[in-house]
Amino acid sequence: MRSARFKISAFLSVLGLLGSTALAAEPPVFAPVNPARMSEVIRTLASDPFEGRSPGTIGAVRTVNYLVAQFQAIGLQPAGEKGGWTQEVPMLHTRIAPDSRVQFQQRGSEGLEFTQSREIYLTTSHPASQIRITEAPLVFVGYGVDAPARDWDDFKNVDLKGKIAVILINDPDFRAKSGEAVAGRFGGRTMTYFGRWTYKFEEAARRGAVGALIVHDTEAASYPWSTVIASGGENFALDRPETPDSLLLHGWLENKAAHELFARAGLDLDALSEAARRPDFKPVALGGMALTTELDVSTQHLQSRNVLAKIPGTTHPDETIIYGAHWDAFGKSKGPHGGDMIRHGAIDDASGIAAILEIARAFKSGPAPERTIVFGAWTAEERGLLGSTWYVEHPLISLDKAVANFTIDVLQMGGLSHNAFLVGAGQNSLQDDFATIAASQGRVTQNEALPERGAFYRADHLPFARAGVPVLPIMDLAGYPDLVNGGVSAGRKWLDGYMACYHQL
Ligand SMILES: [Zn+2]
Repeated sequence: MRSARFKISAFLSVLGLLGSTALAAEPPVFAPVNPARMSEVIRTLASDPFEGRSPGTIGAVRTVNYLVAQFQAIGLQPAGEKGGWTQEVPMLHTRIAPDSRVQFQQRGSEGLEFTQSREIYLTTSHPASQIRITEAPLVFVGYGVDAPARDWDDFKNVDLKGKIAVILINDPDFRAKSGEAVAGRFGGRTMTYFGRWTYKFEEAARRGAVGALIVHDTEAASYPWSTVIASGGENFALDRPETPDSLLLHGWLENKAAHELFARAGLDLDALSEAARRPDFKPVALGGMALTTELDVSTQHLQSRNVLAKIPGTTHPDETIIYGAHWDAFGKSKGPHGGDMIRHGAIDDASGIAAILEIARAFKSGPAPERTIVFGAWTAEERGLLGSTWYVEHPLISLDKAVANFTIDVLQMGGLSHNAFLVGAGQNSLQDDFATIAASQGRVTQNEALPERGAFYRADHLPFARAGVPVLPIMDLAGYPDLVNGGVSAGRKWLDGYMACYHQL
């Protein structure tokens, strides 16, 4: 919590600068951030009655009610729909039956059967109670990237209609050695959007594939297989009126199982993965290997809610500064020993919610801000940035004059640190302000040290950035904190320990 206080005071100071007319002006005086109160918020949101705050559950209803009460108690004004505190976000929730099985068969050879959450992990965003796929051919498409601006095309016009695309995670030069043709084309170890699983599914859908399977790799994904399967076959998507795309199934192959599948098809996955780092890579059919399955799906249309509050600005009320964090976590699922367990989401992201509540309190204690300050507690971030995406598509205060979005996702809990990390460097001048404030605290600002994790694509600031709003994400997955107690090695221990149970607790 102590480091959280550090960060937030940095944040407030940044805002103090933005809210006043000149950088040189005296920063306004705010009430100090109260770490005990933040702990209390985290403890409450992470407690059993909130059931892990999954959209569509009683825990979600309790969470939204709690947030509205908090915003009210702080003395904010509602910024939701129809003068209220919330914005409805329509979602389609699906869950694939836990014991589902998938057959892989090659004519004339013995088949392989994969079981959900063991060798394969499948989800769907189709509103159907059953998904049936018969003998859909498998095609390995390398990293599954089509990036003309980087002179890269993994697909080479391969026809994916009705087929299953098998794809590597991360982007083509994640493992490149210097001198290789791909080296540097995708930002070196820094993950580009082409490395994210979301992009890979989108691209497979654009090409008419019926399914897309990503080969899991702990290093390249930055999280273990246990994180992949933690969602228990659930999927949430924005419930839009458009006809759904061709992709009936998306999912992951466990690494060893994927190797076995390729071996059955007479192929060497490691050799193909190396070949995929060359621009002349061509998709490879898995030797007539085809997928057959019949899956039962439970489907539910539901309304979740963003919670929104504001402090109107005095001189520039139409210009907004948006603070956001997500209220959702992963709800309940089967634990390692079969029993139900709640995944409380204390750090991710009750800590961010606690931060924006505390920032709101601080603002209310100081002089009225010149610009309108908006506080957004988004739903369904963990399910694909759904709440923030919906808000950006349906803003309740025009985003044309949104001057900044600060997104707080996962505060660093390891302790006071000498450094502070910038996620997605080179975007805007907010980062310079951030560095100035960090320096005033005697801290060094560093660019994200683990850029292969693609943090910039993993939180609610992304839809705002895409809409042209200057963003500053604060995410503590970006590098190892140099802790006052114990230095970088203690910081590494903290972050690695956290990532090993990421999204599971
Ligand atoms: Zn999060």
